[in-house]
Amino acid sequence: MGDTAALKIPAGLLPRDGRFGAGPSKVRPEQIEALAQAGGSLLGTSHRQAPVRNLVGSIRNGLSDLFSAPEGYEVVLGVGGSTAFWDIASFGLVENKAQHLSFGEFGSKFAAATNKAPFLSASSIIKAEPGTRPQPVAEPGVDVYAWPQNETSTGVAAPVQRVQGADDGSLVLIDATSAAGGLDVDLAQSDVYYFAPQKNFASDGGLWLGMFSPAALERAARINAGDRWIPDFLNLQTAIDNSRLNQTYNTPSLSTLVTLNSQVQWLNTNGGLAFAAGRTAESAGRIYSWAEKSAVATPFVARPEDRSNVIATIDFDDSIDASAIAATLRANGVVDVEPYRKLGRNQLRIATFVAIEPDDVSALLNCIDYVIEHS
Ligand SMILES: *Cc1c(COP(=O)(O)O)cnc(C)c1O
Repeated sequence: MGDTAALKIPAGLLPRDGRFGAGPSKVRPEQIEALAQAGGSLLGTSHRQAPVRNLVGSIRNGLSDLFSAPEGYEVVLGVGGSTAFWDIASFGLVENKAQHLSFGEFGSKFAAATNKAPFLSASSIIKAEPGTRPQPVAEPGVDVYAWPQNETSTGVAAPVQRVQGADDGSLVLIDATSAAGGLDVDLAQSDVYYFAPQKNFASDGGLWLGMFSPAALERAARINAGDRWIPDFLNLQTAIDNSRLNQTYNTPSLSTLVTLNSQVQWLNTNGGLAFAAGRTAESAGRIYSWAEKSAVATPFVARPEDRSNVIATIDFDDSIDASAIAATLRANGVVDVEPYRKLGRNQLRIATFVAIEPDDVSALLNCIDYVIEHS
């Protein structure tokens, strides 16, 4: 390839919005309008007073509606993002031993967290090659089963299902950071469905949220009442108690709450999770069928049923330099389609989060074709 970064893509081919990153997501302009409106009143006011607490209440109710939360499920939130939640769950939800599915960066990080905890037994970690996924296996003594619904590093999606034959009272913890609000889920199949707002909710990072089952709430209370030392900032019971008052233990980012609430309202007004899952399926489907027809591109995830509808990973054959395509797109304002850095493949990774217009995805594919033809 020549000096592809200098190639100018015709304006008529470009997507209206060129943000396709796997996180943070493209933000919808209406969310920024909501932020501007909050700017004169809500921003800069106390998170202990009614206006911000009502906003948190609106988010909690909106999420319960969006996920059709079964009776007794509660929305819990705290500061620190999904990465913080891994430590919070290690301290506050795993009683003795966790089993993790590890098939990419994010699943492996939570596995490492429980595995290193000196007060827990060594974790059972079931691995699979990137681009594939393992199955959970019922194991006596395991009281938490954990895996990501969408492995953002590879574009593999995994079903959210209870583990047949697992010990009574064992919990299923789903890392839904990049899946929540973009993929369908039956919450009754999980005990904690946790996420952060910067993916399908198109808000900013720094917060974690979880849909907690009664069994998970009971487990958290029981562990907290025991003699395990838990750092205050990572204390799950403290987060649960604060959430019930529509508060967080320490100061949250108010702008994150405003843009999150705006997205939850938008989803619920437009048909909820069915709308969201339909829209991401449409966007991702356009990418996979384009790749299957292409002479030079192939979906990285071999099994169609494992392919994610929110993150599409596309391999290119050796005649094409995917990093040069990404660089040319970037020079033309179409950004963040580089592959996950540690995967080290000749690949593009394209987010199809719900904020992204399916027609912008089609435009992106036309741009990729144009770059390939003109390089
Ligand atoms: C983005 C992501 C995370 C990390 O979220 P942070 O809020 O940055 O900690 C964890 N898990 C998955 C599956 C993700 O996609």
